[in-house]
Amino acid sequence: MLLKGYRKEIVRPECRPEAESVHYIAHLNQDITEVIPYLNSVLGGFQYLKDPPSVSFKVHGKLIAVHPRMICVNALRDEAEGEKIIQWMKQEINDAWERRGEIEPKFEGAPKPKVIDILKLLPKTNCGECGQPTCMVFAVQVAEGGKGPEDCPPLSEEGKAKLSDYLGQFHFD
Ligand code: SF4
Repeated sequence: MLLKGYRKEIVRPECRPEAESVHYIAHLNQDITEVIPYLNSVLGGFQYLKDPPSVSFKVHGKLIAVHPRMICVNALRDEAEGEKIIQWMKQEINDAWERRGEIEPKFEGAPKPKVIDILKLLPKTNCGECGQPTCMVFAVQVAEGGKGPEDCPPLSEEGKAKLSDYLGQFHFD
């Protein structure tokens, strides 16, 4: 077993204590640098940084960042939800480490959707109904995963389906 334990730290924003925004940080007892490219290969990280190595995943709308000595999870309902995710990730880390002989390590993140391709699928009227000044600004937000097809009211059902299909290639949830 590579990762044996961790110390938890819970961060709550003082300004909005009622918001769904508890952050869970697990300070790891072991250095997991070597497993990070294997974990990236198994779970399909959307962002991989080489130096120092870290990988980020989006799982059920949560952002999980795995560093050599730390795992961070954001936007949680409560501490229990964070504990569940960290326990799951600990299992994945140890499984990937055990099976590293069979796994091809991956040193880059998943391909990302292109802003220009998203823009092509929008009405391009800059109407502002989405709350953004232009379709281009909206397309950037879609590319980053913050907005989706449903957030552009004038987009037809067919257009929404096309945009969903395009984003689906990149495992957006
Ligand atoms: S609502 Fe749609 S069409 Fe209007 S500005 Fe936003 S992205 Fe463009």
